[in-house]
Amino acid sequence: MIIGVPKEIKISENRVGMTEAGVVQYVKEGHTVIVEKDAGVGSGITNEQYEKAGAKIIDSKKEVYAKADMIQKVKEPLPEEYDLMKENQIIYTYLHLAAEPKLTKVLCERKVKAIAYETIQLDNGSLPLLTPMSEVAGRMATQIGAFYLQKDHGGKGILLGGVTGVKPGKVTIIGGGVVGTNAAKMAVGLGASVTILDVNTARLEYLDDVFQGRCMTLFSNPKNIEESVRESDLVIGGVLITGHKAPTLVSKEMISSMAKGSVVVDVAVDQGGCIETCRPTSHTNPTYEVDGVIHYCVPNMPGVAPRTSTYALTNVTTKYGLMLAGMGVEDAVAKNAHLRKGLNVYGGNVVYEPVAKDLHMPY
Ligand code: NAD
Repeated sequence: MIIGVPKEIKISENRVGMTEAGVVQYVKEGHTVIVEKDAGVGSGITNEQYEKAGAKIIDSKKEVYAKADMIQKVKEPLPEEYDLMKENQIIYTYLHLAAEPKLTKVLCERKVKAIAYETIQLDNGSLPLLTPMSEVAGRMATQIGAFYLQKDHGGKGILLGGVTGVKPGKVTIIGGGVVGTNAAKMAVGLGASVTILDVNTARLEYLDDVFQGRCMTLFSNPKNIEESVRESDLVIGGVLITGHKAPTLVSKEMISSMAKGSVVVDVAVDQGGCIETCRPTSHTNPTYEVDGVIHYCVPNMPGVAPRTSTYALTNVTTKYGLMLAGMGVEDAVAKNAHLRKGLNVYGGNVVYEPVAKDLHMPY
């Protein structure tokens, strides 16, 4: 099979879908890898390094799409790429379709075989291709929150860790999964006062155990969210109901109840966001204010930490990519139930139930 790796075009997206190590593995299994010129530059991988690993460098994105049987990338195809996708081409990338009705329609019309990284799911419910990026985004969320809380960045002027004789800042994290746990690790490390809310009591038990009292756990219900948000300097949204659009848990009224200069980071923005006032922003213009509360809602946060993120991502995508390339989509998903969960669009139809349900499309 010919595997195409286009250069990412989302704003400040510096990750790339395949490293030199991935090229070596695909070539070893008899495939051809074509990489768009300079696709790896943002992640520190030169054209020469790709060539040395066995890939062919192609000048134009159009040619990569035209020649490839499978496209392996990072973010969803953007409008400039819609017409480049061809019938029966495998599109293997993050898609987040429950929040993207237009893209879903295009993928159906183009009759591609679309595999979404974020819905490949193991038997225990975990999402192996989302986890590493959630680790990155969760850790970044606390760093970013601390940055915007500074007065010179528009915030109320609070140091999250406080200092001797002065109270630390309060951080509320909604969703205690991978994003939430990693955000909490960083916030606890800084010395902040941290509360995590989740509906999964087994998860709360686990968090209570690992944080050994350095983090408060609370059951997630409207009353607890309302109280916790009101008192917080920083709120981080890290909720996920796999494949579905994120539920709105923090209302506009709750945001208005926060002190001016507080910060919210809605990491779940890629699935529509769990904060009512959230709308997607970009790395070049990442924040806006609602009632004096700074909102940071960038859907591709790891894009600006590419040297960490590209390697963390491709460590987990290559295995399934090799299955798709080696067997073709049909046999690969028939043999591997985890990969089957990743198949979102096939033969002009949505074939992943949560997306079909949220977008009111036939399934
Ligand atoms: P996860 O499945 O590990 O964790 C989600 C948690 O949310 C679970 O523990 C679940 O029990 C909890 N939850 C569900 N409903 C809840 C509710 N009503 N109240 C409180 N908690 C609830 O998911 P994750 O890997 O941590 O990802 C979280 C979100 O972050 C996803 O939408 C993911 O796509 C997104 N994400 C965004 C970026 C970015 O750049 N913005 C990067 C990585 C991940």
